Amino acid sequence: MAESYDAVVIGAGVFGAWTAHRLQRTGRSVALLDVYGAGNSRSSSGGESRILRMGYGREEIYTRWSLASLRLWIELFEQVNQPELFQKTGVLWTPAADDANTAFTLGTLEKCGVVFQYLTPAELTARFPQVRYSSERVGIFEPESGVALARRAVCAVVEDAIRNGVDYFREAALAPDGAEVRTRSGRVLRASTFVYASGPWLPKIFPEILEGRIRPTRQEVFFFGTEPGDRRFTPPHMPAWLDFTDERGAYALPDIENRGFKLAFDRHGPPFDPDTSDRLADGLDAARAFLAERFPALAGAPLVESRVCQYENTSSGDFLIDRHPDFSNVWLVGGGSGHGFKHGPMVGEHVTALIDGSASVEARFSLATKSREAKRAVY
Ligand SMILES: Cc1cc2nc3c(=O)[nH]c(=O)nc-3n(C[C@H](O)[C@H](O)[C@H](O)COP(=O)(O)OP(=O)(O)OC[C@H]3O[C@@H](n4cnc5c(N)ncnc54)[C@H](O)[C@@H]3O)c2cc1C
Repeated sequence: MAESYDAVVIGAGVFGAWTAHRLQRTGRSVALLDVYGAGNSRSSSGGESRILRMGYGREEIYTRWSLASLRLWIELFEQVNQPELFQKTGVLWTPAADDANTAFTLGTLEKCGVVFQYLTPAELTARFPQVRYSSERVGIFEPESGVALARRAVCAVVEDAIRNGVDYFREAALAPDGAEVRTRSGRVLRASTFVYASGPWLPKIFPEILEGRIRPTRQEVFFFGTEPGDRRFTPPHMPAWLDFTDERGAYALPDIENRGFKLAFDRHGPPFDPDTSDRLADGLDAARAFLAERFPALAGAPLVESRVCQYENTSSGDFLIDRHPDFSNVWLVGGGSGHGFKHGPMVGEHVTALIDGSASVEARFSLATKSREAKRAVY
Protein backbone atom coordinates (compact mmCIF):
# COMPACT_ATOMS: atom_id res chain seq x y z
CA MET A 1 0.00 0.00 0.00
CA ALA A 2 1.25 3.48 -0.81
CA GLU A 3 2.29 5.90 1.93
CA SER A 4 1.27 9.51 1.25
CA TYR A 5 3.20 12.71 1.93
CA ASP A 6 3.12 16.29 0.74
CA ALA A 7 6.78 16.01 -0.28
CA VAL A 8 9.33 13.24 -0.66
CA VAL A 9 13.04 14.12 -0.76
CA ILE A 10 15.45 11.60 -2.24
CA GLY A 11 18.97 11.91 -0.85
CA ALA A 12 20.02 12.94 2.66
CA GLY A 13 23.24 14.71 1.72
CA VAL A 14 23.57 18.37 2.58
CA PHE A 15 21.13 19.53 -0.15
CA GLY A 16 18.41 16.96 0.58
CA ALA A 17 18.75 17.18 4.37
CA TRP A 18 18.26 20.95 4.36
CA THR A 19 15.46 20.74 1.80
CA ALA A 20 13.54 18.23 3.92
CA HIS A 21 14.21 20.34 7.02
CA ARG A 22 12.91 23.53 5.41
CA LEU A 23 9.90 21.87 3.73
CA GLN A 24 8.81 20.44 7.09
CA ARG A 25 8.94 23.94 8.58
CA THR A 26 6.23 25.05 6.15
CA GLY A 27 3.84 22.53 7.71
CA ARG A 28 4.18 19.87 5.02
CA SER A 29 4.38 16.17 5.71
CA VAL A 30 7.80 15.09 4.44
CA ALA A 31 9.61 11.80 3.84
CA LEU A 32 13.40 11.76 3.40
CA LEU A 33 15.11 8.75 1.80
CA ASP A 34 18.74 7.76 1.54
CA VAL A 35 20.05 4.56 0.04
CA TYR A 36 23.23 4.40 2.14
CA GLY A 37 22.24 6.64 5.06
CA ALA A 38 22.76 10.33 5.85
CA GLY A 39 26.37 11.47 5.55
CA ASN A 40 27.51 8.05 4.30
CA SER A 41 31.09 7.56 3.12
CA ARG A 42 30.10 7.36 -0.55
CA SER A 43 28.18 10.64 -0.50
CA SER A 44 29.80 13.95 -1.41
CA SER A 45 28.73 15.34 1.96
CA GLY A 46 30.29 12.47 3.88
CA GLY A 47 33.72 13.99 4.50
CA GLU A 48 34.97 15.09 7.89
CA SER A 49 35.19 18.83 7.11
CA ARG A 50 34.18 21.45 4.55
CA ILE A 51 35.25 25.08 4.20
CA LEU A 52 32.53 27.70 4.65
CA ARG A 53 33.94 30.74 2.81
CA MET A 54 32.40 33.89 1.37
CA GLY A 55 34.80 34.81 -1.44
CA TYR A 56 33.53 33.92 -4.94
CA GLY A 57 35.16 36.48 -7.22
CA ARG A 58 32.38 38.37 -8.97
CA GLU A 59 29.75 35.63 -8.44
CA GLU A 60 27.64 37.66 -6.03
CA ILE A 61 24.81 35.16 -5.62
CA TYR A 62 27.19 32.64 -4.09
CA THR A 63 28.66 35.19 -1.68
CA ARG A 64 25.15 36.19 -0.60
CA TRP A 65 24.07 32.57 -0.21
CA SER A 66 27.25 31.70 1.74
CA LEU A 67 26.64 34.52 4.15
CA ALA A 68 22.96 33.69 4.66
CA SER A 69 23.76 29.97 4.93
CA LEU A 70 26.46 30.52 7.54
CA ARG A 71 23.90 32.23 9.79
CA LEU A 72 21.48 29.33 9.32
CA TRP A 73 24.18 26.74 10.00
CA ILE A 74 25.21 28.48 13.23
CA GLU A 75 21.58 28.91 14.30
CA LEU A 76 20.87 25.21 13.80
CA PHE A 77 24.06 24.06 15.54
CA GLU A 78 23.17 26.21 18.54
CA GLN A 79 19.59 24.92 18.59
CA VAL A 80 20.77 21.32 18.67
CA ASN A 81 23.46 22.07 21.27
CA GLN A 82 26.33 21.22 18.97
CA PRO A 83 27.98 24.63 18.36
CA GLU A 84 31.32 22.87 17.74
CA LEU A 85 30.05 21.70 14.33
CA PHE A 86 31.11 25.12 13.05
CA GLN A 87 34.74 25.98 13.76
CA LYS A 88 35.45 29.67 13.25
CA THR A 89 38.98 29.14 11.99
CA GLY A 90 38.92 32.08 9.57
CA VAL A 91 39.54 31.60 5.85
CA LEU A 92 42.64 32.90 4.07
CA TRP A 93 42.89 33.50 0.31
CA THR A 94 46.34 34.13 -1.09
CA PRO A 95 45.99 35.26 -4.72
CA ALA A 96 48.91 36.56 -6.77
CA ALA A 97 49.36 40.29 -6.23
CA ASP A 98 48.33 40.95 -9.85
CA ASP A 99 45.39 38.48 -9.98
CA ALA A 100 42.52 40.22 -11.80
CA ASN A 101 39.92 38.29 -9.79
CA THR A 102 41.07 39.81 -6.48
CA ALA A 103 39.41 43.15 -7.18
CA PHE A 104 36.12 41.37 -7.94
CA THR A 105 36.33 39.33 -4.74
CA LEU A 106 37.06 42.42 -2.64
CA GLY A 107 34.27 44.40 -4.32
CA THR A 108 31.71 41.64 -3.80
CA LEU A 109 32.71 41.03 -0.17
CA GLU A 110 32.39 44.76 0.49
CA LYS A 111 29.02 45.01 -1.26
CA CYS A 112 27.58 42.04 0.61
CA GLY A 113 28.83 43.26 3.99
CA VAL A 114 31.27 40.40 4.58
CA VAL A 115 33.89 41.11 7.24
CA PHE A 116 37.36 40.77 5.72
CA GLN A 117 40.92 42.04 5.99
CA TYR A 118 43.22 42.76 3.07
CA LEU A 119 46.86 41.84 3.75
CA THR A 120 49.80 43.22 1.80
CA PRO A 121 52.57 40.73 0.91
CA ALA A 122 54.57 41.86 3.94
CA GLU A 123 51.58 41.60 6.28
CA LEU A 124 50.71 38.18 4.88
CA THR A 125 54.20 36.79 5.56
CA ALA A 126 54.36 38.33 9.01
CA ARG A 127 50.97 36.96 10.04
CA PHE A 128 51.13 33.49 8.47
CA PRO A 129 54.84 32.59 8.27
CA GLN A 130 54.04 28.86 8.01
CA VAL A 131 53.05 29.32 4.34
CA ARG A 132 55.72 29.97 1.67
CA TYR A 133 55.10 31.28 -1.86
CA SER A 134 57.25 31.29 -4.96
CA SER A 135 55.67 34.50 -6.28
CA GLU A 136 54.33 37.65 -4.64
CA ARG A 137 51.00 37.07 -2.92
CA VAL A 138 48.46 39.19 -1.07
CA GLY A 139 45.99 37.98 1.55
CA ILE A 140 42.23 38.22 1.86
CA PHE A 141 41.30 37.03 5.32
CA GLU A 142 37.69 36.26 6.28
CA PRO A 143 37.81 36.10 10.12
CA GLU A 144 34.14 35.08 10.58
CA SER A 145 34.30 32.18 8.12
CA GLY A 146 35.58 28.70 8.90
CA VAL A 147 34.95 24.99 8.69
CA ALA A 148 31.91 22.75 9.21
CA LEU A 149 32.34 19.23 10.55
CA ALA A 150 30.56 17.98 7.46
CA ARG A 151 29.30 14.47 8.11
CA ARG A 152 28.25 15.29 11.65
CA ALA A 153 26.63 18.53 10.44
CA VAL A 154 24.47 16.69 7.88
CA CYS A 155 23.46 14.13 10.51
CA ALA A 156 22.51 16.98 12.86
CA VAL A 157 20.22 18.48 10.20
CA VAL A 158 18.60 15.10 9.53
CA GLU A 159 18.17 14.34 13.26
CA ASP A 160 16.56 17.74 13.79
CA ALA A 161 14.25 17.17 10.82
CA ILE A 162 13.23 13.78 12.25
CA ARG A 163 12.59 15.34 15.68
CA ASN A 164 10.32 17.86 13.97
CA GLY A 165 8.31 15.13 12.24
CA VAL A 166 10.10 14.18 9.00
CA ASP A 167 9.90 10.43 8.27
CA TYR A 168 13.33 9.09 7.35
CA PHE A 169 13.87 5.81 5.48
CA ARG A 170 17.04 4.06 4.39
CA GLU A 171 15.73 3.16 0.96
CA ALA A 172 16.88 3.30 -2.66
CA ALA A 173 14.37 5.27 -4.73
CA LEU A 174 13.78 4.55 -8.39
CA ALA A 175 12.99 7.21 -11.00
CA PRO A 176 9.56 8.88 -10.47
CA ASP A 177 6.37 7.66 -12.05
CA GLY A 178 3.76 10.44 -12.01
CA ALA A 179 2.47 10.90 -8.47
CA GLU A 180 4.51 8.10 -6.93
CA VAL A 181 8.01 6.83 -6.38
CA ARG A 182 8.92 3.22 -5.74
CA THR A 183 11.93 1.99 -3.84
CA ARG A 184 14.02 -1.07 -4.63
CA SER A 185 12.54 -2.86 -1.62
CA GLY A 186 9.00 -2.32 -2.96
CA ARG A 187 7.89 0.65 -0.87
CA VAL A 188 5.55 3.03 -2.70
CA LEU A 189 5.50 6.71 -1.74
CA ARG A 190 2.87 9.08 -3.08
CA ALA A 191 3.33 12.85 -2.92
CA SER A 192 2.46 16.04 -4.72
CA THR A 193 6.17 16.97 -4.89
CA PHE A 194 9.36 14.92 -5.25
CA VAL A 195 12.81 16.41 -4.81
CA TYR A 196 15.71 14.38 -6.17
CA ALA A 197 18.72 15.70 -4.24
CA SER A 198 20.80 12.67 -5.05
CA GLY A 199 24.16 14.36 -5.69
CA PRO A 200 26.52 12.37 -7.94
CA TRP A 201 23.82 9.71 -8.44
CA LEU A 202 21.52 12.09 -10.35
CA PRO A 203 22.88 11.06 -13.79
CA LYS A 204 22.31 7.38 -12.91
CA ILE A 205 18.69 8.01 -11.95
CA PHE A 206 17.98 10.33 -14.90
CA PRO A 207 20.46 9.21 -17.58
CA GLU A 208 18.52 10.66 -20.54
CA ILE A 209 18.66 14.20 -19.24
CA LEU A 210 21.63 14.30 -16.87
CA GLU A 211 24.32 11.99 -18.19
CA GLY A 212 27.20 14.24 -19.21
CA ARG A 213 25.51 17.23 -17.59
CA ILE A 214 26.56 16.17 -14.09
CA ARG A 215 29.96 14.51 -14.13
CA PRO A 216 31.28 12.86 -10.95
CA THR A 217 35.06 13.17 -10.63
CA ARG A 218 37.47 11.46 -8.25
CA GLN A 219 38.93 13.82 -5.62
CA GLU A 220 41.58 12.91 -3.07
CA VAL A 221 42.14 14.33 0.39
CA PHE A 222 45.24 13.87 2.58
CA PHE A 223 45.76 14.37 6.30
CA PHE A 224 49.29 14.91 7.58
CA GLY A 225 50.51 14.63 11.16
CA THR A 226 52.30 17.61 12.70
CA GLU A 227 55.30 17.49 15.05
CA PRO A 228 54.41 16.95 18.72
CA GLY A 229 53.86 20.33 20.33
CA ASP A 230 53.81 22.25 17.02
CA ARG A 231 50.71 24.45 17.10
CA ARG A 232 51.41 26.34 13.84
CA PHE A 233 48.96 24.22 11.86
CA THR A 234 46.15 24.28 14.39
CA PRO A 235 43.54 27.04 14.90
CA PRO A 236 43.82 29.89 15.74
CA HIS A 237 47.35 29.97 14.21
CA MET A 238 46.32 28.30 10.95
CA PRO A 239 43.06 29.22 9.19
CA ALA A 240 41.49 27.35 6.29
CA TRP A 241 43.54 28.30 3.23
CA LEU A 242 42.77 28.45 -0.48
CA ASP A 243 45.14 29.04 -3.37
CA PHE A 244 43.17 29.17 -6.61
CA THR A 245 45.96 31.17 -8.28
CA ASP A 246 47.87 27.90 -8.39
CA GLU A 247 46.54 25.79 -11.29
CA ARG A 248 46.13 22.77 -9.03
CA GLY A 249 43.68 24.76 -6.91
CA ALA A 250 45.20 23.66 -3.62
CA TYR A 251 43.43 24.15 -0.34
CA ALA A 252 44.25 23.20 3.22
CA LEU A 253 42.45 22.95 6.51
CA PRO A 254 44.07 23.24 9.91
CA ASP A 255 44.25 20.30 12.27
CA ILE A 256 40.66 20.04 13.50
CA GLU A 257 39.38 17.30 15.82
CA ASN A 258 42.97 15.99 15.85
CA ARG A 259 42.59 14.49 12.37
CA GLY A 260 45.77 16.18 11.08
CA PHE A 261 46.50 18.96 8.59
CA LYS A 262 44.26 18.45 5.55
CA LEU A 263 45.51 19.10 2.01
CA ALA A 264 43.67 18.60 -1.28
CA PHE A 265 43.52 19.84 -4.85
CA ASP A 266 40.37 21.31 -6.34
CA ARG A 267 41.41 20.47 -9.93
CA HIS A 268 39.00 17.87 -11.31
CA GLY A 269 40.16 14.26 -11.18
CA PRO A 270 39.14 11.40 -13.51
CA PRO A 271 35.53 10.17 -13.88
CA PHE A 272 34.26 8.26 -10.85
CA ASP A 273 31.39 5.92 -10.00
CA PRO A 274 30.04 6.75 -6.53
CA ASP A 275 28.61 3.24 -6.00
CA THR A 276 31.32 0.92 -7.24
CA SER A 277 34.68 2.72 -7.31
CA ASP A 278 37.33 1.84 -4.72
CA ARG A 279 38.47 4.73 -2.59
CA LEU A 280 42.21 4.33 -2.18
CA ALA A 281 44.16 7.57 -2.73
CA ASP A 282 47.18 7.35 -5.06
CA GLY A 283 48.34 10.97 -5.27
CA LEU A 284 50.49 11.03 -2.14
CA ASP A 285 53.71 11.97 -3.94
CA ALA A 286 52.14 15.05 -5.53
CA ALA A 287 50.60 16.05 -2.19
CA ARG A 288 53.95 15.66 -0.40
CA ALA A 289 55.75 17.68 -3.08
CA PHE A 290 53.21 20.46 -2.71
CA LEU A 291 53.53 20.37 1.06
CA ALA A 292 57.31 20.71 0.84
CA GLU A 293 56.86 23.70 -1.47
CA ARG A 294 54.18 25.63 0.44
CA PHE A 295 54.44 24.37 4.02
CA PRO A 296 58.15 23.57 4.43
CA ALA A 297 57.79 22.70 8.11
CA LEU A 298 55.55 19.79 7.04
CA ALA A 299 57.89 18.50 4.32
CA GLY A 300 58.53 15.19 6.05
CA ALA A 301 55.19 14.95 7.86
CA PRO A 302 53.65 11.48 7.99
CA LEU A 303 50.38 10.76 6.20
CA VAL A 304 47.91 9.87 8.95
CA GLU A 305 44.78 9.39 6.84
CA SER A 306 43.51 9.82 3.30
CA ARG A 307 40.12 9.78 1.63
CA VAL A 308 38.67 9.63 -1.85
CA CYS A 309 35.48 11.56 -2.43
CA GLN A 310 33.79 12.79 -5.60
CA TYR A 311 32.63 16.09 -6.98
CA GLU A 312 29.41 16.16 -9.02
CA ASN A 313 30.29 18.80 -11.59
CA THR A 314 28.04 20.74 -13.89
CA SER A 315 29.55 22.31 -17.00
CA SER A 316 30.08 25.72 -15.36
CA GLY A 317 30.17 24.82 -11.66
CA ASP A 318 26.72 26.38 -11.17
CA PHE A 319 24.20 24.30 -9.25
CA LEU A 320 21.27 22.53 -10.87
CA ILE A 321 17.98 23.52 -9.20
CA ASP A 322 15.14 23.09 -11.66
CA ARG A 323 12.05 21.08 -12.52
CA HIS A 324 12.29 17.83 -14.37
CA PRO A 325 11.41 18.69 -17.98
CA ASP A 326 8.75 15.93 -18.19
CA PHE A 327 7.31 16.00 -14.65
CA SER A 328 6.29 19.38 -13.24
CA ASN A 329 6.08 17.91 -9.69
CA VAL A 330 9.68 16.62 -9.73
CA TRP A 331 12.64 18.85 -8.84
CA LEU A 332 16.27 18.13 -9.62
CA VAL A 333 18.65 19.53 -7.02
CA GLY A 334 22.39 18.98 -7.22
CA GLY A 335 25.52 19.83 -9.14
CA GLY A 336 27.35 21.06 -6.03
CA SER A 337 30.53 20.99 -8.16
CA GLY A 338 33.02 20.91 -5.29
CA HIS A 339 31.67 23.99 -3.53
CA GLY A 340 28.08 23.15 -2.58
CA PHE A 341 28.35 22.17 1.06
CA LYS A 342 28.36 25.63 2.56
CA HIS A 343 25.19 26.51 0.61
CA GLY A 344 23.04 23.68 1.97
CA PRO A 345 20.75 25.90 4.08
CA MET A 346 20.05 28.34 1.23
CA VAL A 347 19.52 25.52 -1.25
CA GLY A 348 16.87 24.18 1.14
CA GLU A 349 15.27 27.64 1.48
CA HIS A 350 15.32 28.22 -2.27
CA VAL A 351 13.82 24.83 -3.17
CA THR A 352 11.07 25.41 -0.60
CA ALA A 353 10.33 28.84 -2.12
CA LEU A 354 10.23 27.31 -5.61
CA ILE A 355 7.75 24.68 -4.47
CA ASP A 356 5.68 27.35 -2.70
CA GLY A 357 5.69 29.39 -5.88
CA SER A 358 7.28 32.40 -4.16
CA ALA A 359 10.52 32.14 -6.18
CA SER A 360 11.26 31.29 -9.76
CA VAL A 361 14.06 29.20 -11.21
CA GLU A 362 17.34 31.13 -11.33
CA ALA A 363 18.66 31.12 -14.89
CA ARG A 364 22.12 29.99 -13.81
CA PHE A 365 20.66 27.04 -11.87
CA SER A 366 18.41 25.94 -14.73
CA LEU A 367 18.73 22.68 -16.63
CA ALA A 368 18.85 24.65 -19.88
CA THR A 369 22.18 26.22 -18.87
CA LYS A 370 23.81 22.85 -18.16
CA SER A 371 25.74 21.82 -21.22
CA ARG A 372 27.65 18.58 -21.75
CA GLU A 373 30.83 20.52 -22.47
CA ALA A 374 32.92 21.34 -19.38
CA LYS A 375 33.63 25.06 -19.11
CA ARG A 376 34.22 25.76 -15.48
CA ALA A 377 33.47 29.33 -14.43
CA VAL A 378 32.58 29.06 -10.73
CA TYR A 379 35.21 28.08 -8.14
C1 LIG B 1 36.78 16.27 -1.33
C2 LIG B 1 35.68 17.28 -1.36
C3 LIG B 1 35.88 18.51 -0.78
C4 LIG B 1 34.88 19.48 -0.80
N1 LIG B 1 35.10 20.66 -0.17
C5 LIG B 1 34.09 21.57 -0.06
C6 LIG B 1 34.27 22.71 0.75
O1 LIG B 1 35.33 22.91 1.35
N2 LIG B 1 33.24 23.59 0.84
C7 LIG B 1 32.05 23.38 0.21
O2 LIG B 1 31.16 24.23 0.34
N3 LIG B 1 31.85 22.26 -0.55
C8 LIG B 1 32.83 21.36 -0.68
N4 LIG B 1 32.65 20.21 -1.40
C9 LIG B 1 31.40 20.01 -2.15
C10 LIG B 1 30.25 19.52 -1.30
O3 LIG B 1 30.71 18.59 -0.34
C11 LIG B 1 29.18 18.92 -2.22
O4 LIG B 1 28.85 19.85 -3.23
C12 LIG B 1 27.92 18.58 -1.42
O5 LIG B 1 28.23 17.80 -0.30
C13 LIG B 1 26.93 17.84 -2.33
O6 LIG B 1 25.81 17.47 -1.55
P1 LIG B 1 24.58 16.70 -2.16
O7 LIG B 1 23.56 16.63 -1.10
O8 LIG B 1 24.20 17.29 -3.46
O9 LIG B 1 25.14 15.24 -2.53
P2 LIG B 1 25.49 13.99 -1.58
O10 LIG B 1 26.11 14.45 -0.33
O11 LIG B 1 26.26 13.02 -2.39
O12 LIG B 1 24.10 13.40 -1.20
C14 LIG B 1 23.33 12.63 -2.09
C15 LIG B 1 22.69 11.51 -1.30
O13 LIG B 1 21.75 10.84 -2.13
C16 LIG B 1 21.72 9.49 -1.76
N5 LIG B 1 21.13 8.76 -2.89
C17 LIG B 1 21.64 8.60 -4.12
N6 LIG B 1 20.82 7.90 -4.90
C18 LIG B 1 19.75 7.60 -4.14
C19 LIG B 1 18.55 6.88 -4.37
N7 LIG B 1 18.28 6.32 -5.57
N8 LIG B 1 17.66 6.75 -3.37
C20 LIG B 1 17.92 7.28 -2.15
N9 LIG B 1 19.06 7.97 -1.88
C21 LIG B 1 19.94 8.13 -2.85
C22 LIG B 1 23.18 9.16 -1.48
O14 LIG B 1 23.34 8.05 -0.65
C23 LIG B 1 23.68 10.46 -0.83
O15 LIG B 1 23.67 10.39 0.58
C24 LIG B 1 33.64 19.21 -1.41
C25 LIG B 1 33.42 17.96 -1.99
C26 LIG B 1 34.41 16.99 -1.96
C27 LIG B 1 34.15 15.65 -2.57
